[in-house]
Amino acid sequence: MSNETLSAVFENIVKSEDNLIRLCQDLIRFPTVNPPGNDYQACVEYIGNRLKSRGFTVEYIRAYGAPGDSADYPRYNVIARYETGRVGPCVHFNSHIDVVETGDGWTKDPFAAELIDGKIYGRGACDMKGGLAASIIAVEALIASDIELKGTIEISGTADEESGGLGGVAYLAEKGYFSKDRVDHVIIPEPLNVDRVCLGHRGVWWAEIKTHGRIAHGSMPFLGDCAIRHMGAVVASFEDKLYPAMAARHTSMPVVPEGAKQSTLNINSIHGGQSEITEGLPAPCVADSCRMIIDRRFLVEEDLDEVKREIDDILSDLEKLRDGFRYEVRDMLEVIPSMTDKDAPVVKATAEAIKEVLGKTPEFICSPGTYDQKHIDRIGDLKDCIAYGPGILELAHQPDEYVIVEDMLNSAKVMASSAYKLLMGKSS
Ligand SMILES: [Zn+2]
Repeated sequence: MSNETLSAVFENIVKSEDNLIRLCQDLIRFPTVNPPGNDYQACVEYIGNRLKSRGFTVEYIRAYGAPGDSADYPRYNVIARYETGRVGPCVHFNSHIDVVETGDGWTKDPFAAELIDGKIYGRGACDMKGGLAASIIAVEALIASDIELKGTIEISGTADEESGGLGGVAYLAEKGYFSKDRVDHVIIPEPLNVDRVCLGHRGVWWAEIKTHGRIAHGSMPFLGDCAIRHMGAVVASFEDKLYPAMAARHTSMPVVPEGAKQSTLNINSIHGGQSEITEGLPAPCVADSCRMIIDRRFLVEEDLDEVKREIDDILSDLEKLRDGFRYEVRDMLEVIPSMTDKDAPVVKATAEAIKEVLGKTPEFICSPGTYDQKHIDRIGDLKDCIAYGPGILELAHQPDEYVIVEDMLNSAKVMASSAYKLLMGKSS
């Protein structure tokens, strides 16, 4: 039974508490804010140096030519690989090293990583340097134990997840680092709570819709054609047709929170007409153009082409109904939904490990937003991938973000146990 074998590993993790806290604090103190993509090289070298001293082979991979990659802001990634020398699968822990901007409202220094009452505060504490630190401690404890492990363990620290992952996991997957030749099981320690297994995420379509008009004097709008009124008709049509249709569509995906269990559309922004050059001096013209940015999140049951067609049908109906209505749609971002099977090995191993460590049956969820699983699935064609980590989902990107040390310790045990089961073929 793995319980006895692993008890020494769990004990080692508990004893490593100070080490775990220091590691997490060190990681937070690299202000790897993205954009612009600050301090990546120093952060990956810190991870690489640590793991090299534990017997890992370390590779630094810069995503030359990726969006944002420059001499000032190089997109650096690190992959550390530990071969046991015995035949077996490869378990990979992937964490992004970038964090979002701090924003207002902090009562703590976002990069001081203060430890207060069992919580470490800082930008990225929850999303996701706490998860990265926990995975490193988990793997170090496994390697240090007497267990004759099989196979290979990899840990990566990757760039740019917060801006789409093109200079990080997508780049590495294109180069074959995430491929069936090299990796079998992937755990991404994103902050989705210590007792939940995240199977995947919904899809995304970002687009710009533009309506056209004709400029004229503001006192005689009947001589022009107002692009903003045309856009108003688009919004009204969304309210009448699109929102009710989306609300009626439910998914088998266990997305959290509840409101994200259906298709959603956010209207991110609308810009129309000439801009006011000076405050108090309005532009005296009829608006000849108007732009809207939409963020459509869709379900595994939906097809991206149909998602697009649904909006295009609304726009082409308006073209028939409204004199002068002309429009354009421009794609900005497309992400296909990803969901790992509940019976997949990494799901079962992690669920069993959660039961073992926390004594409760884990919840299976999907994320409302996307993360790097999309690239591992679509580019790497690796289907055995989940997100599992210690942070609290709701704290991600918030002021006074923190991670709870006890959650890190528990998730480190879960990750060690899950990796053990996968490497040794012990999952039921
Ligand atoms: Zn994240």
